[in-house]
Amino acid sequence: MRILITGGAGFIGSHLCKELVKKGEQIICMDNLLTGEKANINELLSLPNFQFIEHDVSKYIDIEGNLDYILHFASPASPIDYLKFPIQTLKVGALGTHNTLGLAKAKRTKFLLASTSEIYGDPEVNPQGEEYWGNVNCISPRGVYDEAKRFAEAITMAYHRYHKLDTRIVRIFNTYGPKMRLNDGRAVPAFIGQALEGKPLTVFGNGSQTRSFCYISDLVEGILKLMDSSINDPINLGNPAEFTILEFAQKIISLTKSKSKITFEPLPVDDPKVRRPDIAKAKKLLGWEPKVEIEEGLGKTIEYFREKLI
Ligand code: UDP
Repeated sequence: MRILITGGAGFIGSHLCKELVKKGEQIICMDNLLTGEKANINELLSLPNFQFIEHDVSKYIDIEGNLDYILHFASPASPIDYLKFPIQTLKVGALGTHNTLGLAKAKRTKFLLASTSEIYGDPEVNPQGEEYWGNVNCISPRGVYDEAKRFAEAITMAYHRYHKLDTRIVRIFNTYGPKMRLNDGRAVPAFIGQALEGKPLTVFGNGSQTRSFCYISDLVEGILKLMDSSINDPINLGNPAEFTILEFAQKIISLTKSKSKITFEPLPVDDPKVRRPDIAKAKKLLGWEPKVEIEEGLGKTIEYFREKLI
């Protein structure tokens, strides 16, 4: 297959590029490097079945030749990035999704949208199943991401229904692993970086908010299964093992054998109080569930950041 991956130099995009290149697919990786990094795809650049194009998908996309699949993963994806790049976040979710869908329609390709658990907002039900409509504050600072992705889902379903495009939507819950940016502000790289440098771990609020963390290889396996499936409705992918953020910070201190303490800082506006995926649908329809235990996944991630910090 000839596959376009937008956001291919980002954390999840670069893992997908690597996996699909390994399977022998022809990969066109497109990224404007706003939050993606060329270092994530360095090892692929010389391969004959890999091509990198620096381009912002919020602008018209021109690709020569046929395409079989478009995986639309371009977007800032960390709360501090939404604050730094609010307009770009809205544009890539809205205009970028419109452009990639237009390209999919023109080339008659399949299309997979990277959506997010953020479409559930600050959820009033836990765990979140796909049928839950969410609780989003559209004008809050993180609303730029939530609403862009909600629009992206809506326009993807419209292209599916109106233009009969064969589309998929994956709602990705918190995912972690090598190739995250050390300073992207998210809990996993922030805590690991702080623990390895002996600095205090910055827990926001009192740390009672919960998250459920999925290791990147599990997520990639789920995405590949979804690509091969014929499921047009949104599907959650994530690891249902739920932790409070305080427990999670303590776990990282213990796994890194760090002497760091914990400090408490103000909770960001509209930080969701709970988050845990209901993955019954993925289990039943894709035969997928995560396999990597948190200690194993964090172990590999800690090693990655340890090398980065040397
Ligand atoms: N968090 C924290 N300290 C940090 C970074 C994040 O306590 O230095 C908290 C954040 O408030 C949230 C959780 O950890 O409750 C997960 O945050 P992250 O930015 O990783 O992603 P989110 O799930 O909020 O999109």
